[in-house]
Amino acid sequence: MTGQAILFDFDGTLVPNLDLADMRRQIADMAKAAGVPDEIYDGLYIVEIIEASQAWLSAQYPALANTAQAYAAASHQRINDIEMEAASNTVPFEGVRQVLGQLKDAGYRLGIVTRNCRAAVLTMFPDMDEFIDCLHARDDVAHLKPDPRHLQDNLDALGVGASAAVMVGDGALDMQAGRALNMRCVGVLTGSNNRQALIEAGATDVLADYRGLVTLLI
Ligand SMILES: [Mg+2]
Repeated sequence: MTGQAILFDFDGTLVPNLDLADMRRQIADMAKAAGVPDEIYDGLYIVEIIEASQAWLSAQYPALANTAQAYAAASHQRINDIEMEAASNTVPFEGVRQVLGQLKDAGYRLGIVTRNCRAAVLTMFPDMDEFIDCLHARDDVAHLKPDPRHLQDNLDALGVGASAAVMVGDGALDMQAGRALNMRCVGVLTGSNNRQALIEAGATDVLADYRGLVTLLI
């Protein structure tokens, strides 16, 4: 079993999900309040709304680059505030530590790849280091999933090739990112997607929750 890895998404996979819809609504409201038209950020994920809106504001009003920057800083701060508030009330699903321990004992290297911030992950899972070999949170990477480079950074740190690794997550973007690297992708139904959405996004297996990994992978 040595030389294999399992990469986990965090929210919706190892802990209950954040209210991402509400966070996105708040961030979109801030873009709207800054004067950014809907079509600039329609269909984008949360951090990407801020990037697209800041770029639009800077291009539209070159003399007001500071305003665009202040808008972006305030929006990033809002995300952090929401994440840290949620983290203070959230703990891992019951039995997560036991299952991670079993997978680790079976010889898997374990990673976490999340769009959440590092401080929030460590608040929810303070003893993470006992189980997880490497965390790549939002503040640790230049490219966020579904960009596969987010996962590749984690694989590189673990020293495991994509073909020997499994991506586990509740999100379509987890499956998309894993599939882009030809990883085996396992969807879990404890978050934001149903079985069909996960399969359409590239899941090779779909489990009710993380506990099924013991049977599937050991
Ligand atoms: Mg998730």
